[in-house]
Amino acid sequence: MTKNRGVALIVSGPSGVGKGTLISMLMKEFKNIKFSVSYTTRKPREDEINGVHYFFVSKEEFQKMIEQDKFAEWAQVHGNFYGTPKQEIEQKLRQGVDVIFDIDVQGARQLRGTLSDGEFVFIMPPSMDELEKRLIKRSSDSHLEIEIRLKNAEQEVKQSSFFDYIIVNDDLERAYESLRCIYLASKLKVRS
Ligand code: 5GP
Repeated sequence: MTKNRGVALIVSGPSGVGKGTLISMLMKEFKNIKFSVSYTTRKPREDEINGVHYFFVSKEEFQKMIEQDKFAEWAQVHGNFYGTPKQEIEQKLRQGVDVIFDIDVQGARQLRGTLSDGEFVFIMPPSMDELEKRLIKRSSDSHLEIEIRLKNAEQEVKQSSFFDYIIVNDDLERAYESLRCIYLASKLKVRS
């Protein structure tokens, strides 16, 4: 029996909604899931490690990668560039490794074309007020950045119907249980 292609789980949703936490929880429970490490021109935050959270590159390096067609998708988000490397991801999926993506809505829409067998999940904040509170509490971004992120969040929420699944993150444990179920069901899916 040949090895099944890995599951591509694309998780999207506004900044601060808890995507990162949910993804970490799933990866802790299921060791076969690998994180798709994106490239970004954003400066690293204090606790971020190059090659683990992101590959941090200059605008010039990023531009070069676009020209060399290295990205499965890329987008400008909150004023910085972010992109998913094409070759690494495809290789992992082909080897039967499950891959989880933390990307914005523009990126998810682009990936629909390339990863048509992926599961597209949108994490929804309980409300905009709650999202603002969480972004302030996280305090890793400036006041201006928080404002930009909230404006983008409104646009992202409007596009949530594009996704296969919507999980409202009002209760972390419950939201996690939903994500876990989606992952487990997708493992059982018949893929051609
Ligand atoms: P942050 O700067 O907070 O790490 O991420 C900002 C936004 O960029 C988040 O919504 C995150 O999901 C998104 N993002 C991270 N990596 C990628 C990527 O490779 N492509 C796209 N399109 N968005 C990404």
